[in-house]
Amino acid sequence: MDVSSLPVSSLKGVGPKLAEKLARFGLCTVQDVLFHLPFRYQDRTRVTRIGSLRPGGEALVVGSIDLTDVVFRGRRSLVCRVSDGSGHMSLRFFHFTAAQRDKLARGRQIRCFGEVRLGSAGLEMIHPEYDVYAGDALPVAEQHLTPFYPATEGVHQLSLRRVVGQALDTRLAGLHEWLPEEVLSDLKLPTLPQALAYVHRPPPDARVEILEQGRHPAQQRLVFEELLAHHLSMKHRRAQMSRQRAPVIQTPGKLAAALWARLPFALTAAQQRVIAEIVDDLAKGHPMQRLVQGDVGSGKTLVAAAAALHAVEAGLQVAIMAPTELLAEQHWRNFDAWLRPLGIETAWLSGKLGAKERAAMLAAIGSGAAALAVGTHALFQGDVVFKNLGLVIVDEQHRFGVHQRLLLREKGNSAGRLPHQLTMTATPIPRTLAQALYADLDVSVIDELPPGRTPVETVVLPDTRRAEVVARVHAACRDGRQVYWVCPLIEESETLDLQTAIDTEAALRTALPEISIRLVHGRMKAQDKERTMAAFKAGSVQLLVATTVIEVGVDVPNASLMIVEHAERLGLAQLHQLRGRVGRGAAHSSCVLMYHGALSENARQRLAVLRASNDGFEIARKDLEMRGPGEVLGTRQTGDGEFHIADVMRDQALLPTIERTAELLLAKHPDSVLPLVRRWLGGREQYAEV
Ligand code: ADP
Ligand code: MG
Repeated sequence: MDVSSLPVSSLKGVGPKLAEKLARFGLCTVQDVLFHLPFRYQDRTRVTRIGSLRPGGEALVVGSIDLTDVVFRGRRSLVCRVSDGSGHMSLRFFHFTAAQRDKLARGRQIRCFGEVRLGSAGLEMIHPEYDVYAGDALPVAEQHLTPFYPATEGVHQLSLRRVVGQALDTRLAGLHEWLPEEVLSDLKLPTLPQALAYVHRPPPDARVEILEQGRHPAQQRLVFEELLAHHLSMKHRRAQMSRQRAPVIQTPGKLAAALWARLPFALTAAQQRVIAEIVDDLAKGHPMQRLVQGDVGSGKTLVAAAAALHAVEAGLQVAIMAPTELLAEQHWRNFDAWLRPLGIETAWLSGKLGAKERAAMLAAIGSGAAALAVGTHALFQGDVVFKNLGLVIVDEQHRFGVHQRLLLREKGNSAGRLPHQLTMTATPIPRTLAQALYADLDVSVIDELPPGRTPVETVVLPDTRRAEVVARVHAACRDGRQVYWVCPLIEESETLDLQTAIDTEAALRTALPEISIRLVHGRMKAQDKERTMAAFKAGSVQLLVATTVIEVGVDVPNASLMIVEHAERLGLAQLHQLRGRVGRGAAHSSCVLMYHGALSENARQRLAVLRASNDGFEIARKDLEMRGPGEVLGTRQTGDGEFHIADVMRDQALLPTIERTAELLLAKHPDSVLPLVRRWLGGREQYAEV
């Protein structure tokens, strides 16, 4: 019987109630149960004599009960004395029932497992796990390491162990092997039943460290399958997409040419190459699925503008989605400045808009008067209706879930045509990883910065050396340069952060009375913010104290020094993004990363990476090593591309083989593709749907 269609309730001891709880936890079939894998193990295969117990570690003890009593000294507790001929110890329970007390009767055999500590009356275990045996059934040690499973409310470790044990004992043979013989023999990995049996029930001599790191061949066999299933699901999604229709956008590119003619600079070769790739996609009649990776400041926004202008020229609307209000506003200002002179109207959807303004924007989007709309997820709310959406551009795509992106795409679904989609990210990831994680996308890379950028020299200092830093700011301003002083958002409360920035500004005014200083922060009215930024840009403000407002979009080439407070609290990507505000002119630029208090090892490493490199690709690679893709790419929050047991950083070496195997399966064994995907991703609708 194929276990992938066998309900859990078919297992002995799983009634309707437990089955329902397991289903809520994603365990619906016997196959789901077999693939619910332990994350930790305990060694209960060896019995320790009480006489050789040491306080500290965990141990399995077998003995007989000498005495059980409720004692009232200190806290009321149930104390059970156990001996095994080599010594005696106590088990102590602060919470207990009368039934429990009665079961721990004198003369019975007990097997218990717990942490050994030194109590007032000698060695003891507090709330150990135990089994009591009456008569001749003598307790023995476990035959294999004890697995610990991800558990959930209402489904306990013990019942999970029992259910999984049932499945292993009775149903392992019903597990279908979807990997073809040629692949298995090539890989020299254990068979699926062998691998699962080992992972659920490792023998006493198994190396727990290797298992807990997920590096055992039995686990690697499963990791291989999981990565393969993900890869196949993305390839499948991509294949589905290439069968969908999208508007054919084939224009002479007059609007884009008109924009380029107005720019004070020429596009870089990398920008031109990526734009050509996009223009090519747009003409194909299938939805473009392209990801553009490019370092901070590499000019992704203009690449997006080129794509947008091609769509607009073809009479279609464009939606641009940004992860934050601030970024959305910034984009809107940029696009409006570029497109208005070309006679193109843009709309901006923001939480900040009043009801009347919002209604006007919605009307412009609905009538098609606005060819382009910028916003946060406000864009895919129900009342936003486009007349003719042809292209969706998503900035910093990793901050959105697949679900949100699909919603926006649905808005453009008319007459069976889907809009094209362009996503942009400043977190470039290495090629092999991109192939594994973004197999459903075409990837373009802007691997060149506009000319005239100078590498930023970065120093790391404790904030006890603030006086030196202030002197440095003074010197820079005296030389006619401009300076950013960043007080990042670090507190839980925005008000506190704001206060830090206000205090810093006041202190700097006192220390540097002859320098013109201004404060800018997210709570300011848009008008005041703009006025301040304009003054900084014009040079009449020399020192700009800012919260992370300036993280994006600010472009002042004369600013050549940046001070960042509390740099230890910020992530690599964010610091790199901030630092990208300097080094935009000809002058030598530097960045001072100040930290407060003692640096953690992790923070020290992070700051060292920034000191050593200005290259966003290198920094992203380090970030991936240190935090893992789940954190760096935000998938931990959105749930996309999350794995049960695979870890793409740890398991990178498998990736090329996985790609080859995926090709092979698709070409020669297409029938095994969907069952494999379902086995590993079954519950996740976005994969199941495609
Ligand atoms: P990012 O890739 O970080 O989104 P932006 O698109 O914001 O970068 O561009 C950063 C800055 O570089 C902007 O001020 C933009 O006008 C400018 N820029 C973009 N392309 C070029 C270019 N080819 N030459 C000079 N400056 C450019
Ligand atoms: Mg950008």
